Amino acid sequence: MLWQKLMITLATNPQAKHWMQNSRKMTNLASRFVGGKSAQEGSNKAEQLHLQQDKRSSLFYLGEYVQDQKEIAKTLHELEKSIKQLAEKNLDIHISIDPTQIGLMNDVTEFKDNATHLSMLIKEHSSGDPASSDFLMIDMEDDTVTQTTLDVYHFLHEKGLPCAVTLQAYLHRTEADLQKIISTGGTVRLVKGAFAESDSIAYTRRDMINTSYFSLAQNMLSRQAKANNFYPIFATHDDKMIDKISNYASDNGWKDNAYEFEFLLGVREGLQDDLIKCGHKLRLYVPFGTEWWSYSVRRIGESPRNGFFLLRSLCYR
Ligand SMILES: Cc1cc2nc3c(=O)[nH]c(=O)nc-3n(C[C@H](O)[C@H](O)[C@H](O)COP(=O)(O)OP(=O)(O)OC[C@H]3O[C@@H](n4cnc5c(N)ncnc54)[C@H](O)[C@@H]3O)c2cc1C
Repeated sequence: MLWQKLMITLATNPQAKHWMQNSRKMTNLASRFVGGKSAQEGSNKAEQLHLQQDKRSSLFYLGEYVQDQKEIAKTLHELEKSIKQLAEKNLDIHISIDPTQIGLMNDVTEFKDNATHLSMLIKEHSSGDPASSDFLMIDMEDDTVTQTTLDVYHFLHEKGLPCAVTLQAYLHRTEADLQKIISTGGTVRLVKGAFAESDSIAYTRRDMINTSYFSLAQNMLSRQAKANNFYPIFATHDDKMIDKISNYASDNGWKDNAYEFEFLLGVREGLQDDLIKCGHKLRLYVPFGTEWWSYSVRRIGESPRNGFFLLRSLCYR
């Protein structure tokens, strides 16, 4: 906890951010957790991961809680370029977005229109090959935007646009939200949840969050989910949870390619490689952009085991 607090202080320190982000080369630190500074570098990283390690990617342009119209336009421009470059490289056209980076800070309609535009562009460039996962993945932010985010996901899904949404296992409401999506056969990425929510709406104890995660995973691997062509994505670095899920999936007749695991780029790379060796489908969340400092330091803060790596990166800039 002390380690994590220290890293959050470092992540939000403007001098440290300025010093690191303006260094000529991207540091070791950035290149472990971030795919590059531009859409071109991000899609090159996705290609390299695919060709060399058989790992798929979801590209994310760094930035959240954006109000400035110029910055929103820049985000959309980078995402449009990513979509075209992934299509040219014949990779999955898989883009992750935060609602608050494409207009939700200003207006729900702005977010909905921008999300519609991006998923239409993905549809336009998609090869239609059933083996490739081409869609707009909507990340889930704090609870003040949960309902709006889900409303926009359902709007896109009803229009037949390629979209998916992230659900957080710590929220009490998630069981019902998931059931609604399973009944219409969509795609959900299940995460534990990263925001500090209150115990009136969320499980706050780790054991309770884990219990909820596995129970929701079982629903995602139910007969009904399979019959409705629901596509489950389990985004967790928790090896024990991954074991339980993959055993449950095979006991219930799910083939390894009918669901996937997703990790953040640079996190638990040994475990990533083990999953690939066992024949699992693995996707990495690959952020790109110039605002890489806070994101990378927050990842470092998630495990004290990363301390040595941080020190080395700062010394050999
Ligand atoms: C692809 C992806 C997308 C996500 N999208 C969202 C989202 O939209 N909304 C949201 O609220 N949250 C999101 N998250 C974050 C998520 O909610 C968790 O906060 C985060 O994944 C940590 O939980 P865990 O499942 O890995 O389990 P934990 O129980 O936190 O960790 C499991 C194990 O992994 C290790 N570990 C975890 N992180 C690291 C690290 N950085 N370095 C080294 N070891 C580590 C831990 O030490 C532990 O041993 C996303 C996560 C992933 C992987």
